[in-house]
Amino acid sequence: MSWDTLKNIAADVRTGKTSATKLIDEALANIAKHAEFNAIITTLTDRARSRAADIDARVKNGEDPGRLAGVPFIAKDNFLVFGAETTAASNILKGFDAPYQAMAIEKLEAEGAICVAKANLDAFAHGASTENSDFFTTKNPHDKTKVPGGSSGGSAAAVALNMTPFALGTDTGGSIRQPASFCGVVGLKPTYGLVSRSGVVAMASSTDVIGPIAKSVEDTALILDVIAGQDVLDGTTIPRQTDYTDLSGDLKGKKIGYIKEYFGEGLDEGVQATVEAAMQKLKAAGVELVEVSLPSLPLALAVYYIVCPAEVSSNLARYDGQRFGHHVDNATDLTESYQKARQQGFGSEAKRRIMIGTYVLSSGYYDAYYKKAQTVRTKLINEFNAAFKTVDFLLGPVAPTTAFTIGENTTDPLAMYLGDIMTVGASMAGIPAISVPCGESSGLPVGLQIMAAQSHDQRLLAVAQQFEELSR
Ligand code: GLN
Repeated sequence: MSWDTLKNIAADVRTGKTSATKLIDEALANIAKHAEFNAIITTLTDRARSRAADIDARVKNGEDPGRLAGVPFIAKDNFLVFGAETTAASNILKGFDAPYQAMAIEKLEAEGAICVAKANLDAFAHGASTENSDFFTTKNPHDKTKVPGGSSGGSAAAVALNMTPFALGTDTGGSIRQPASFCGVVGLKPTYGLVSRSGVVAMASSTDVIGPIAKSVEDTALILDVIAGQDVLDGTTIPRQTDYTDLSGDLKGKKIGYIKEYFGEGLDEGVQATVEAAMQKLKAAGVELVEVSLPSLPLALAVYYIVCPAEVSSNLARYDGQRFGHHVDNATDLTESYQKARQQGFGSEAKRRIMIGTYVLSSGYYDAYYKKAQTVRTKLINEFNAAFKTVDFLLGPVAPTTAFTIGENTTDPLAMYLGDIMTVGASMAGIPAISVPCGESSGLPVGLQIMAAQSHDQRLLAVAQQFEELSR
């Protein structure tokens, strides 16, 4: 079965036409049915059932549980949620029970939504395939031999498999958009700071964002509307701008730039043909398409793989085996305890990023790497700003290929990193970007990436929905 729209599901619960309990049972049954895909780390069965019973009782009492009454959802396992461990798919966090909840979870639950499970990811969100999970690899719902993308691969696969109508992911360099593209669902990376990061395991704090993965742009917009807004617990948050569920407007007369640098060497022919066909559809609907060049964009990947590990090395310093999860009992002193816990608890990708990050931040190399990367980052931001003075939106593919084969890139970290080339630009600039399904290549889904200027999330969602309409 596939789910109705979030609005309709909640309406049925609010009017008593269906019950939250029934929806939770359905979600749990779907999760069990698709266990072979390894999308889920833990289910929150008892907590979800008791929340559902509470919502049903409130409806019977004549109360309104909210805009997402009874809607089941799945959170990536780097969100702190009561009732289950938060592991970030890492051995070092095994056994860590959240002392408080992520703000996004709080906001969704305040509107009646119910978290039923925690999804698999690349450990600490480092990766693009879920193969860096310390536990297991998630399989692509369209082809079990392929990766679902990452790092929010469990969340995207879960939505594609109809386990729940939506899931939450995080995107630091593409981790919502790329798995959405690989699994054929919608994934939004909002403007940096629009959604509170409070209660989410930090990766690279200057680009980490939280966003929805869903079946339609309409559902995606409703989730953003619920979770967006300033939060005293996250000093980088910005005020919400508008009603994000307002998707009105028309494609006619819009000016969209296709990014020249994304259509060059390395782009898979099938992906290119699918994205170009989507561009033709937009053109036929009255969009003015122009080529836009951002000369610094090819450097975005190098910049990202300096800035991101630098921040990762700092954020992972807190996992020392004393306060969270994994602890070593047989150490002779504190230093040995730290060393053993980190040695045993971190996987090879986390260790690689810690080493690169501490290296680029070290006194002898800071100017050559970190400072230079931040300079290029500013240049890139300026180029994006200049582009948005001439066009309303930018577009391109989400990734150079469709979902790749499990194991194909695991021995070559650079090949894995290269796959992020089309998503890291928007991350470095903090602008909103969305992946919308636009067709298939050799039976695998392809996503169209659309980007907008900072804080233009509502306009981005509107144009994405208008594109989605063209494909129906
Ligand atoms: N694939 C990218 C990386 O490995 C992005 C990860 C993310 O957005 N969390 O860093």
